Amino acid sequence: MEFEPVIGLEVHAQLLTESKIFCGCSTRFGAPPNAHACPVCLGLPGILPVLNRKVVEYAIKMALATHCRINRENGFARKNYFYPDLPKGYQITQYAHPLAEEGFVEVETEEGTRRIGIIRIHMEEDAGKLIHDERFPSSYIDLNRAGVPLMEIVSAPDIRSAGEAAAYLRRLHEILVYLEICDGNMEEGSFRCDANVSLRPRGREEFGIRTELKNMNSFRNVQRALDYEIERQRRVLEEGGEVVQETRLWDDAQGVTMPMRGKEEAHDYRYFPDPDLVAVAVSEAWVEEVRRTMPELPLEKRRRFRREYGISAYDAGVLTADRALADYYEEVVRGCDRPKLAANWVMGDLLRLLNEDRRDIRDCPIPAAFLAEMIHLLEEGAISGKMAKEICEEMYRTGKAPRTIIADRGLVQITDESVLLPVIEKVIADHPNQLAQYRGGREKLFGFFVGQVMKATQGKANPRLINELLVKLLTG
Ligand code: ADP
Ligand code: MG
Ligand code: ZN
Repeated sequence: MEFEPVIGLEVHAQLLTESKIFCGCSTRFGAPPNAHACPVCLGLPGILPVLNRKVVEYAIKMALATHCRINRENGFARKNYFYPDLPKGYQITQYAHPLAEEGFVEVETEEGTRRIGIIRIHMEEDAGKLIHDERFPSSYIDLNRAGVPLMEIVSAPDIRSAGEAAAYLRRLHEILVYLEICDGNMEEGSFRCDANVSLRPRGREEFGIRTELKNMNSFRNVQRALDYEIERQRRVLEEGGEVVQETRLWDDAQGVTMPMRGKEEAHDYRYFPDPDLVAVAVSEAWVEEVRRTMPELPLEKRRRFRREYGISAYDAGVLTADRALADYYEEVVRGCDRPKLAANWVMGDLLRLLNEDRRDIRDCPIPAAFLAEMIHLLEEGAISGKMAKEICEEMYRTGKAPRTIIADRGLVQITDESVLLPVIEKVIADHPNQLAQYRGGREKLFGFFVGQVMKATQGKANPRLINELLVKLLTG
């Protein structure tokens, strides 16, 4: 029997606000343990949470980017469970009334564009962090992360392979980073994903029993964990067994998933509306105000780049992967009006130089206008391709304008016939034997003369002009 995987992903994205979701504590990563904690996020008796407006605004942005319906009135609930990193004994989250529902994102796959449904987007607080000391052994608690705002994005069970899951995640990641509402750092846990997966006989409507996978901290590991789990479930089913509904942990070192705990049900959490918080009212005006601040999103930008600049899908993909890189490229195009050449230079020499230094395009030492100017000079034949490469490197090292570099180094190409003509005449006069042989039919010697002229001009002569003049003079 052939089985089809069914996958749904739950993504937690840490929102890039200055302060926590229900108090004024800083959200900055890397502070000494418990430096960012107050009575509210410590859950001391008598405290009252106050919702951070920025959190709602950021969640609205994501809801708009993923075509969700925004619930004009939504609210917070308490999810009750005990764990030492959760001082209140409950997590404040959204349950029955999430901020947004029923959206989708488009994912490019080998079979074309696929729509993956978004069931819901809601806001919630993060828990603290336990640090286990193997030496004593004892455990410590750091509550800096307690109360840091998260957004959970739950996909519909629309994903059909591990590769598609990774592609979907990359899309979400890209959108969040473009919107500047999440830094997307997977290692630091600002973007984490749990994966639900089940198998069903191909052609059957009904879903099979699923497992939930946790602890994958990279796109690659999500894909590996899903591939492993799909195979594991397939074997269980083929041997006539039943998949156990449970949460499993991905073990990166061993490349396997291991049972962690039985799957909890919603009623285990005793959800109830949080009586300390009023309902969140999202007005039409607020949504419109947020909509006006939305940047062009990556997929739309990719499509526009292809249409407007006539560049390949691959090039458009590379150039729009980072919003700052896309902006830089467009500025170069505006300056030189040669979109394809600009793409080649940005993706070739410029990205190579930046990558060698592990430097971000935001700190690029070459202003876009300088690169545009260099492309312009190359196009009009003022400099050769080889010179352009040298200029590019020097602009990168010194931040100087191409014109300055050219003047300093005497790099200007000889494009003036009246300058080049006497040089060529002298080269020919100095090599009477070669001239005779050439005229006698040894056409290969043409290259010899080109070389001599290049040598005489230290490589500065325009190759097209050399050819033109040589043809004229050699044939006499
Ligand atoms: P829970 O509350 O246990 O996390 P949800 O019903 O909210 O469960 O679903 C969580 C995720 O699991 C969603 O992304 C959903 O698409 C996915 N999912 C639900 N049922 C299945 C299934 N049978 N196989 C694979 N994924 C599933
Ligand atoms: Mg879940
Ligand atoms: Zn606090």
